[in-house]
Amino acid sequence: MTLREKIALCEGKNFWETKEFPQYGIPSMFMCDGPHGLRKQEGNHKDYLGVNDSRPATCFPAAVSTACSWDVELIGRIGSAIAEEAADQGVGLFLGPGVNIKRNPLCGRNFEYFSEDPYLAGKMAASFIKNAQKKGIGTCLKHFACNNQEFRRLSSDSILDDRTLREIYLSPFEIAVREGKPKTVMCAYNKINGVYCSDNRELLTDILRNEWGFEGLVVTDWGAMHDRIEAFKAGCDLNMPGGSSYMEQDVLDAVARGDLDEADIDRSVQRVKKLVLEAREALKNRTLCDYNAHHELARIAAEQSAVLLKNENNILPLKEGQKIAVVGDMAKNMRYQGSGSSHINPTRLVNPAEVLENSGSIEDADVAVVFAGLPPEYESEGFDRDNMEMPQEHIKLIEETADRNPNTVVVLFCGAPVETPWADKVKGILYMGLPGQAGGEAVRNLLYGTANPSGKLAETWPVKYSDCPSATYYPQRDGQYREGIYVGYRYYDKAGVPVRWKFGFGLSYTEFTCSNPQLDGETVRITVTNTGNRPGSEVVQLYVAPPQDGIHRPVRELKRFAKVHLKPGESKEISFTLDERCFAVWDNGWKVPPGKYTVLVGGNPDELMVAGFIEKSGKQVKIPDWQPGSWYEKPKGSPSLEQWEMMLGRKYVPYTVQKGRFTMNDTIAEMKEYSLVMSALYRYVKKVVSKGAKPGTPEYRMIIESSVGSPIRSIQISGGIKGNISKSLLALANGKYIEGLITLLKKG
Ligand code: BGC
Repeated sequence: MTLREKIALCEGKNFWETKEFPQYGIPSMFMCDGPHGLRKQEGNHKDYLGVNDSRPATCFPAAVSTACSWDVELIGRIGSAIAEEAADQGVGLFLGPGVNIKRNPLCGRNFEYFSEDPYLAGKMAASFIKNAQKKGIGTCLKHFACNNQEFRRLSSDSILDDRTLREIYLSPFEIAVREGKPKTVMCAYNKINGVYCSDNRELLTDILRNEWGFEGLVVTDWGAMHDRIEAFKAGCDLNMPGGSSYMEQDVLDAVARGDLDEADIDRSVQRVKKLVLEAREALKNRTLCDYNAHHELARIAAEQSAVLLKNENNILPLKEGQKIAVVGDMAKNMRYQGSGSSHINPTRLVNPAEVLENSGSIEDADVAVVFAGLPPEYESEGFDRDNMEMPQEHIKLIEETADRNPNTVVVLFCGAPVETPWADKVKGILYMGLPGQAGGEAVRNLLYGTANPSGKLAETWPVKYSDCPSATYYPQRDGQYREGIYVGYRYYDKAGVPVRWKFGFGLSYTEFTCSNPQLDGETVRITVTNTGNRPGSEVVQLYVAPPQDGIHRPVRELKRFAKVHLKPGESKEISFTLDERCFAVWDNGWKVPPGKYTVLVGGNPDELMVAGFIEKSGKQVKIPDWQPGSWYEKPKGSPSLEQWEMMLGRKYVPYTVQKGRFTMNDTIAEMKEYSLVMSALYRYVKKVVSKGAKPGTPEYRMIIESSVGSPIRSIQISGGIKGNISKSLLALANGKYIEGLITLLKKG
């Protein structure tokens, strides 16, 4: 291949395909989104925001739900079902799963991610990947890394210390890469400590490949390529979407000058070739895909993932013959998936109202069941939520129903925690998350007890948003990860801040007892018994509580878990084996600080039993000078900028857009404040967007964010503006009028 052809192979052909070079035996490969189902777009209208239609596919529950199943076997079945649909639809690679940590409940895309805990997120993703890839279809682990806010997601800089990066944000990727071996990893839009993920050699080569043994291909998020030359050096292989020949000439020039080694390009070429050839092989043996069976799997998954948060006087399950009032618009229009690139056109859709009989009025019913939650315009890819509240009409509906009927149950649909000031007024709360296309049938089975809830929360539900440590500084253009490792329960436990529902919490219609915990070396055994009168499943969680007299550490951390299915009266013994990582902290490498570690195990965070103690001789880890008396030793509220800078070991200098010195990384939304050209462009884009999407809808907000909120280079890569026009606009905005006009007349 010529050098130009090699560079061209490392950029997609269009929105979803790679380029073919038949003369060299290189086929094209089709890829599409797919964390919880396929979004294969076939017509002329393609996008990465899930706005245009796609081919019907099974819409499984989103990760916010499946994570609550804590069932690695179940998520593996979902992965393999999506891979079957991919094979059926001629898709060689699907873009999921996403394992970014839920750092703050307002992140608009939390619904696509598993957990606030790296171990749980990593294990779920690993099983999904392993099972999905069994027959050769590829998966894509995303978004690598530290993509924890939607606000300015294409240009933000995630600023954090090394320990937090390793212990919290990289760990789920590490587990998924080491155990799941995904064929591809998607680099995120944002920078980490000043370096764009696409150009980040430390991230993409030193850590991902050299440390974790990743052998696959790195693809950019759609429009995330920053500097194609640096990206080749960093180990970023494929630029997506294709079609703009972004920086092709610059790469040729860099090789000619000797600034880029052709061997770096060759490595990426080999990886693209390997991927597309393997995809061709996998697609040769297409088997028939049973979409009905997948609908059933989606129902089982929704049932296994639902979390029973409250069940006063055993109001649930409902009894046959009771008069039930079905209340709330979400009974007819349940929110079952999120908006954005993961949006699926379901093969079928069953709403609760279709399968539940409404047999009572609001006053005379034995039980009133209110369906409520977050409508799509509240939470979506592309923007973060404004607050943690539910819509006032939903709250009012719940409260009015509860005033009229003392037996009120709420079924909640939302992709992230909401404030629940009404929780004490109702008798039952069933959290469905975003349960996928069979959510309606799952709700019926759960309400009537044909299915027994067995989900446990994969994230903490704070009482109110202001309880979150990052509440006062999230989100900003730069992600200031001031709270360090104290994310989710790691913060609430250590700070002693009461929460509405804890990480790991969930009720059942039956009862379980954990007994006889034993520690033998580093193997833990415990017996779980179903002491109630229905079949059910319990999630056994193992936490390690590290010594608190050295370097600051969380009170306890999840290190193992297992889901056990038990008939009434049945007992099973579970065993877990620990390894060194269960005790380690990051301090320029993984080190186990010496001391006494307590092993806790049980089915609910408030009922953990001490299985035993493990004494580690370990390696001394120096207590940092700034630690004594700092927020990190005794976290409470939000850490100040000064506390964070001390921990970070440097001053934080915020990014500022500079008039007259705009770059391809600046957004129209930011430049418009200083430039008439950009201000006119901003108004024009808004006008065009409002012709296609209605203001107030999630699509509108998403398209706005992805146009005026994107760096100029990303708009160019996604085909929104030609290269010469973007350069010309930038020159004009910088006051270089002659240069701007000349560039405009140039081609390319
Ligand atoms: C999203 C990715 C997605 C890609 C393609 C991007 O906007 O961040 O998760 O896979 O679009 O649709």
